[in-house]
Amino acid sequence: MKVTRRQFLKVTGATVASFAVVDLGFDLSATASEVQGVRTKDVKPVPTICPFCGAGCGLVVYSRDGAPADGPQLLSVQGDPDNPINRGGACSKGSALFNIREVYSPETGEQEINPERKTKPLYRAPKSDKWVEKDWDWMFDEIANRFKKTRDENFEYKDENGIIVSRCEALASMGGAALDNEELQLISKLMRALGMTYIEHQARI
Ligand code: SF4
Repeated sequence: MKVTRRQFLKVTGATVASFAVVDLGFDLSATASEVQGVRTKDVKPVPTICPFCGAGCGLVVYSRDGAPADGPQLLSVQGDPDNPINRGGACSKGSALFNIREVYSPETGEQEINPERKTKPLYRAPKSDKWVEKDWDWMFDEIANRFKKTRDENFEYKDENGIIVSRCEALASMGGAALDNEELQLISKLMRALGMTYIEHQARI
Protein backbone atom coordinates (compact mmCIF):
# COMPACT_ATOMS: atom_id res chain seq x y z
CA MET A 1 0.00 0.00 0.00
CA LYS A 2 1.25 3.47 -0.86
CA VAL A 3 1.38 5.82 2.18
CA THR A 4 1.45 9.56 1.57
CA ARG A 5 3.57 11.90 3.72
CA ARG A 6 0.41 13.40 5.25
CA GLN A 7 -0.96 9.94 6.19
CA PHE A 8 2.39 8.95 7.69
CA LEU A 9 2.55 12.06 9.92
CA LYS A 10 -1.06 11.63 10.99
CA VAL A 11 -0.59 8.00 12.01
CA THR A 12 2.76 8.50 13.82
CA GLY A 13 1.49 11.66 15.61
CA ALA A 14 -1.61 9.89 16.87
CA THR A 15 0.47 6.93 18.02
CA VAL A 16 2.89 9.11 20.04
CA ALA A 17 0.02 11.04 21.63
CA SER A 18 -1.84 7.90 22.66
CA PHE A 19 1.33 6.37 24.13
CA ALA A 20 1.85 9.48 26.29
CA VAL A 21 -1.70 9.42 27.62
CA VAL A 22 -1.64 5.69 28.25
CA ASP A 23 1.77 5.86 29.95
CA LEU A 24 0.58 8.55 32.36
CA GLY A 25 -2.61 6.66 33.04
CA PHE A 26 -5.10 9.54 33.20
CA ASP A 27 -7.07 11.95 31.05
CA LEU A 28 -4.78 14.96 30.53
CA SER A 29 -7.40 17.21 29.00
CA ALA A 30 -9.65 17.10 32.07
CA THR A 31 -6.73 17.72 34.44
CA ALA A 32 -5.33 20.59 32.38
CA SER A 33 -8.64 22.43 32.24
CA GLU A 34 -9.14 21.99 36.02
CA VAL A 35 -5.68 23.39 36.83
CA GLN A 36 -6.25 26.28 34.44
CA GLY A 37 -9.51 27.09 36.19
CA VAL A 38 -7.95 27.14 39.66
CA ARG A 39 -4.91 29.21 38.72
CA THR A 40 -6.83 31.93 36.95
CA LYS A 41 -9.85 32.06 39.27
CA ASP A 42 -10.64 35.70 40.27
CA VAL A 43 -7.37 36.90 38.77
CA LYS A 44 -7.54 40.45 37.51
CA PRO A 45 -5.11 41.60 34.79
CA VAL A 46 -4.42 45.35 34.86
CA PRO A 47 -2.32 46.96 32.10
CA THR A 48 0.17 49.56 33.27
CA ILE A 49 3.42 51.29 32.27
CA CYS A 50 6.79 50.35 33.73
CA PRO A 51 8.03 53.25 35.90
CA PHE A 52 11.74 52.55 35.65
CA CYS A 53 12.90 54.23 32.45
CA GLY A 54 11.89 56.37 29.52
CA ALA A 55 11.26 53.41 27.21
CA GLY A 56 7.80 53.21 28.77
CA CYS A 57 7.23 49.48 28.26
CA GLY A 58 3.73 48.16 28.81
CA LEU A 59 3.25 45.62 31.60
CA VAL A 60 0.30 43.61 32.86
CA VAL A 61 -0.11 43.24 36.61
CA TYR A 62 -2.08 40.14 37.65
CA SER A 63 -3.68 40.34 41.08
CA ARG A 64 -6.32 38.69 43.21
CA ASP A 65 -8.36 40.60 45.75
CA GLY A 66 -8.37 39.76 49.44
CA ALA A 67 -4.77 39.12 50.51
CA PRO A 68 -2.49 40.28 51.95
CA ALA A 69 -4.26 42.53 54.42
CA ASP A 70 -3.15 45.86 52.93
CA GLY A 71 -4.42 45.28 49.40
CA PRO A 72 -4.76 42.84 46.54
CA GLN A 73 -2.46 39.87 46.33
CA LEU A 74 0.00 40.28 43.50
CA LEU A 75 0.50 37.14 41.46
CA SER A 76 2.67 38.20 38.58
CA VAL A 77 3.93 41.11 36.49
CA GLN A 78 4.56 40.37 32.80
CA GLY A 79 5.37 42.30 29.64
CA ASP A 80 2.19 43.35 27.83
CA PRO A 81 2.00 41.49 24.47
CA ASP A 82 -0.48 44.08 23.16
CA ASN A 83 1.84 47.02 23.80
CA PRO A 84 3.50 48.14 20.53
CA ILE A 85 6.62 49.41 22.37
CA ASN A 86 7.81 46.18 23.96
CA ARG A 87 5.44 43.55 22.47
CA GLY A 88 5.40 41.45 25.62
CA GLY A 89 9.07 41.79 26.53
CA ALA A 90 10.54 43.40 29.64
CA CYS A 91 14.16 43.97 30.68
CA SER A 92 15.55 42.71 33.99
CA LYS A 93 14.39 45.83 35.84
CA GLY A 94 10.86 45.64 34.47
CA SER A 95 10.71 41.90 35.11
CA ALA A 96 11.66 42.52 38.75
CA LEU A 97 8.83 45.00 39.32
CA PHE A 98 6.88 42.39 41.26
CA ASN A 99 9.54 42.40 43.99
CA ILE A 100 9.13 46.09 44.74
CA ARG A 101 6.05 45.10 46.68
CA GLU A 102 6.26 41.42 47.45
CA VAL A 103 8.84 38.67 47.85
CA TYR A 104 8.82 34.98 48.62
CA SER A 105 10.20 34.33 52.11
CA PRO A 106 12.77 31.49 52.16
CA GLU A 107 11.92 30.86 55.84
CA THR A 108 8.18 30.43 55.51
CA GLY A 109 7.93 29.64 51.79
CA GLU A 110 5.11 32.19 51.69
CA GLN A 111 4.67 35.33 49.63
CA GLU A 112 4.93 38.44 51.82
CA ILE A 113 5.29 42.23 51.65
CA ASN A 114 8.90 43.06 50.81
CA PRO A 115 10.49 44.18 54.11
CA GLU A 116 12.97 46.31 52.12
CA ARG A 117 10.18 48.34 50.55
CA LYS A 118 10.38 52.03 51.48
CA THR A 119 7.03 53.51 52.36
CA LYS A 120 8.19 56.79 53.98
CA PRO A 121 10.50 59.55 52.79
CA LEU A 122 14.11 59.26 53.94
CA TYR A 123 16.19 62.33 54.75
CA ARG A 124 19.95 62.61 55.10
CA ALA A 125 21.08 65.90 56.63
CA PRO A 126 24.12 67.70 55.17
CA LYS A 127 27.38 66.00 56.29
CA SER A 128 25.46 63.15 57.94
CA ASP A 129 25.97 59.51 56.98
CA LYS A 130 22.57 58.43 58.26
CA TRP A 131 19.15 58.35 56.64
CA VAL A 132 16.20 59.11 58.91
CA GLU A 133 12.49 58.66 58.26
CA LYS A 134 10.45 61.85 57.93
CA ASP A 135 6.77 62.39 57.28
CA TRP A 136 5.54 63.79 53.99
CA ASP A 137 4.50 67.19 55.45
CA TRP A 138 7.97 67.79 56.85
CA MET A 139 9.54 66.81 53.54
CA PHE A 140 7.26 69.03 51.41
CA ASP A 141 7.89 72.04 53.70
CA GLU A 142 11.63 71.46 53.62
CA ILE A 143 11.74 71.21 49.82
CA ALA A 144 9.54 74.32 49.39
CA ASN A 145 11.59 76.38 51.87
CA ARG A 146 14.92 75.43 50.35
CA PHE A 147 13.64 76.00 46.84
CA LYS A 148 12.37 79.49 47.70
CA LYS A 149 15.51 80.46 49.60
CA THR A 150 17.80 79.38 46.74
CA ARG A 151 15.66 81.13 44.13
CA ASP A 152 15.42 84.36 46.17
CA GLU A 153 19.19 84.43 46.65
CA ASN A 154 20.06 83.72 43.01
CA PHE A 155 17.30 85.17 40.87
CA GLU A 156 18.64 87.35 38.03
CA TYR A 157 16.29 89.96 36.65
CA LYS A 158 18.79 91.47 34.17
CA ASP A 159 22.05 90.10 32.83
CA GLU A 160 25.36 92.00 32.66
CA ASN A 161 24.23 93.76 29.44
CA GLY A 162 21.05 95.04 31.02
CA ILE A 163 18.84 92.62 29.10
CA ILE A 164 15.87 91.30 31.07
CA VAL A 165 16.35 87.54 31.55
CA SER A 166 14.27 86.70 34.67
CA ARG A 167 16.12 83.50 35.37
CA CYS A 168 17.59 81.40 38.16
CA GLU A 169 20.55 79.25 37.24
CA ALA A 170 21.13 77.92 40.75
CA LEU A 171 18.33 75.34 40.52
CA ALA A 172 17.64 72.53 38.10
CA SER A 173 14.66 70.29 37.39
CA MET A 174 15.03 66.61 36.61
CA GLY A 175 12.00 64.64 35.38
CA GLY A 176 11.70 60.93 36.04
CA ALA A 177 10.27 58.06 34.02
CA ALA A 178 7.46 57.57 36.52
CA LEU A 179 5.99 60.90 35.44
CA ASP A 180 3.45 60.89 32.63
CA ASN A 181 3.05 63.46 29.82
CA GLU A 182 0.54 65.63 31.66
CA GLU A 183 2.57 65.75 34.88
CA LEU A 184 5.70 66.66 32.95
CA GLN A 185 3.90 69.39 31.06
CA LEU A 186 2.76 70.95 34.35
CA ILE A 187 6.22 70.60 35.91
CA SER A 188 7.99 72.17 32.93
CA LYS A 189 5.49 75.07 32.90
CA LEU A 190 6.01 75.62 36.64
CA MET A 191 9.78 75.51 36.33
CA ARG A 192 9.82 77.95 33.41
CA ALA A 193 7.49 80.30 35.29
CA LEU A 194 9.95 80.24 38.20
CA GLY A 195 12.85 81.08 35.88
CA MET A 196 14.58 77.69 35.67
CA THR A 197 16.86 77.24 32.69
CA TYR A 198 18.15 73.74 33.45
CA ILE A 199 15.16 71.49 32.77
CA GLU A 200 15.96 67.91 31.92
CA HIS A 201 14.44 64.46 31.85
CA GLN A 202 15.92 61.10 32.65
CA ALA A 203 14.93 59.71 29.24
CA ARG A 204 17.27 62.19 27.45
CA ILE A 205 20.34 61.32 29.52
S1 SF4 B 1 10.94 47.16 31.19
FE1 SF4 B 1 13.05 47.90 31.20
S2 SF4 B 1 13.28 48.95 29.22
FE2 SF4 B 1 11.08 48.74 29.61
S3 SF4 B 1 10.48 50.68 30.64
FE3 SF4 B 1 10.97 49.16 32.25
S4 SF4 B 1 13.10 49.54 32.75
FE4 SF4 B 1 12.71 50.50 30.77
